[in-house]
Amino acid sequence: MGAGSGTVPELPDIEVYVDGLRRRIAGASMERLRIVSPFLIRSVDPPIELAEGKTVKAVRRLGKRIVLGLVDDLFLVFHLMIAGRFQWKPPGAKPPGKITLATFAFPTGTLILSEASRKKRASLHLVKGETALAEHDPGGLEVLQADARAFAAALRAENHTIKRALTDPRLFSGIGNAYSDEILHAARMSPLKQTRRLANDEVAKLHAAAQQTLQGWMDLLSRQFAERFPGPATSRPSATASPSTADSANPAPSAALRSNASVIKRTRPTTARNARPTAASWPTAPSLGCSRTIGRTPLTERRPTSMWHRAPPAARPVRCMCRSAVAEWRVMTEAMSHERSQSARLYERACRVLVGGVNSPVRAFTAVGGEPVFLERAAGPYLFDADGRRYVDLVGSWGPAIVGHAHPAVVDAVKAAAARGLSFGACSESEVELAETIASAVPSIDVLRFVSSGTEATMSAIRLARAATKRNRLLKFIGCYHGHVDALLVGAGSGAAAFGVPTSDGVPKEVAGATLLAPYNDLAAVEQIMSAHGSRIAAILVEPLAGNMGYVEPARGFLEGLRGQCDEHGSLLIFDEVMTGFRVAWGGHQNRSGVKPDLTCLGKVIGGGMPVAAYGGSRYLMSLVSPLGPVYQAGTLSGNPVAMAAGSATLGLCGAPGFYEALQSKSKRLTDGLASASLKAGVALQIGSCGGMFGFAFSDRPVRSFADAQACDHDRYARFFRAMLDRGVWLPPSGYEAMFVSSVHDRAAIDLVLGAAAESFRSLTS
Ligand code: PLP
Repeated sequence: MGAGSGTVPELPDIEVYVDGLRRRIAGASMERLRIVSPFLIRSVDPPIELAEGKTVKAVRRLGKRIVLGLVDDLFLVFHLMIAGRFQWKPPGAKPPGKITLATFAFPTGTLILSEASRKKRASLHLVKGETALAEHDPGGLEVLQADARAFAAALRAENHTIKRALTDPRLFSGIGNAYSDEILHAARMSPLKQTRRLANDEVAKLHAAAQQTLQGWMDLLSRQFAERFPGPATSRPSATASPSTADSANPAPSAALRSNASVIKRTRPTTARNARPTAASWPTAPSLGCSRTIGRTPLTERRPTSMWHRAPPAARPVRCMCRSAVAEWRVMTEAMSHERSQSARLYERACRVLVGGVNSPVRAFTAVGGEPVFLERAAGPYLFDADGRRYVDLVGSWGPAIVGHAHPAVVDAVKAAAARGLSFGACSESEVELAETIASAVPSIDVLRFVSSGTEATMSAIRLARAATKRNRLLKFIGCYHGHVDALLVGAGSGAAAFGVPTSDGVPKEVAGATLLAPYNDLAAVEQIMSAHGSRIAAILVEPLAGNMGYVEPARGFLEGLRGQCDEHGSLLIFDEVMTGFRVAWGGHQNRSGVKPDLTCLGKVIGGGMPVAAYGGSRYLMSLVSPLGPVYQAGTLSGNPVAMAAGSATLGLCGAPGFYEALQSKSKRLTDGLASASLKAGVALQIGSCGGMFGFAFSDRPVRSFADAQACDHDRYARFFRAMLDRGVWLPPSGYEAMFVSSVHDRAAIDLVLGAAAESFRSLTS
């Protein structure tokens, strides 16, 4: 999900800033202006220095922007975007280190503009004259001032869904994802209804809900910040600090929040969208860049729910909730307050010593909001978190757990191997045994080399392809993920897509430039690229069934077409079967499709949960690898005996007759059940499965490419994820991932998933 769940401050949040600023700087002279980040300033003429020394005549809101009107008809226009925040400090106070974008010194204090994000998105323009200022106004209606007719006219100006209309800045001023959800909730209306199909009484209901919601939040927030300036989350004390240790001039919202338990108790369950701030959106702890939200859903006292924190407006008492919502809220609140404790504590510790608190980005839950749940153990189809909650696991450690967790046969093999020594750094029979199994099963592999991760496997395979063809370029598909190899972190899927960095920073331009991209399933595009560049392309690298932009099956003839193109142009075809290998069929996807690549990359299942991966191909190609040939590749822990034992034991179980048929029928039961539950709830869903791999996407159109995957409703996925998590089902924390079932997902586990899904789908539309 694109970094997706952002929290650009909206009308009520901005109004509170405007009010706070007005009280502090209206009529005051801006004695000094210091721009710390060069990315902040987006205007050239007049020069920004012209604002220095000018008196602030007015402070106002323009949509989601804040405008300081200065003498001489000058206007400073701030757009905070997702992570930009203001702080007010006593004169001379030191601004916070890396996150400060600019400081504005006034006689009574210093206004600091900060942004706790790597992506500097906040902007500042200096413009002269009202006409230039008007260019920053998207022109939307001010809902609080609008009468019913004006509101109806704006709402029906274009035929959109209500959600889209409310959040369109050209139609309505200052409303975004979070408050539109609040409004829709208050009006009890579906976000998907088309605005031109609304009856007059529905429009009136929406108008009233919009005014009450926005006013309610404004009243609440301005009461909350009557005496003080709202500070950013970075200024919040840690959970262990007492409010008294916080900066008293700029007290932390969480402190206020804790002292306001009576209000918070009336919080209701909210959707992922308005469950702000999310891990992605809150300013990060400066030391490690670790997002620290105060809860997975905004239900507990410690969870801020607005830009500063969002307690419910007094105007929305609990009795407004329908019965089931109240019940759900109670159940969730109880679960959360129990569940929060250990996981929250662990996450807090993790954030101090691990980048972002995690060792692989998607684990951070950024794409679905909230903070990660820490796990303690796993058994069969279940995971158990640090607070003892049980989940049916549909992630399977991102694929390896094909025989379930801690299968006794695998554990015994690992124990026995470990007792013989953890690592030799030398040859052992266990490597030969696993290699024999793989080579006999995978059509394209005669000889292979073990490595420790899928990333190493693809990295080594492309090196080999380049050496074998004496060409440099690669062709890969947008939305496919092949590990974090520089050359392959271009147009990448999985976490890279979810975090909005399909092409990573730090990849040299020349390296990225040698990787050509085509849309998945677009053979015509491949043919075009190959006819222009084929003689310089070493390899086409593809996931034969894509699992890193959600679940996307290859179109009929696509893989055959790639084989043909490679043959025609003398390029190698590399199948990245790190995910699909032994997962969708014995020997991998190539055993189903009949299309034989030149090189195959494997990982995940072949290690049964231990760090094992491999690349392999024909005897000739692999003879180019050291020590036989000039392509160097090595690894301290490659072929590690304990990992080999786990892999052999796992494949031993997978090789049993009927294993994949049984796995496929479990996937089918699951996907059939999910499809019918979504249909009943009126939720459009695309769903598919292959062997022990499956996936679904919230879309009413088939998903065949990354562009299709991007167009799916990822906010809805986030809400579904959270609803399922709360009901004991563990899904991948991003809509750009496939899902997995194991041989030990029994009827009870699958029934639990389907029961939870039926409720969760319904919750999306209620
Ligand atoms: N290739 C594919 C298709 C993958 O799905 C992944 C990881 O999910 C990789 C390569 C990278 O594997 P690893 O995470 O073990 O480096």
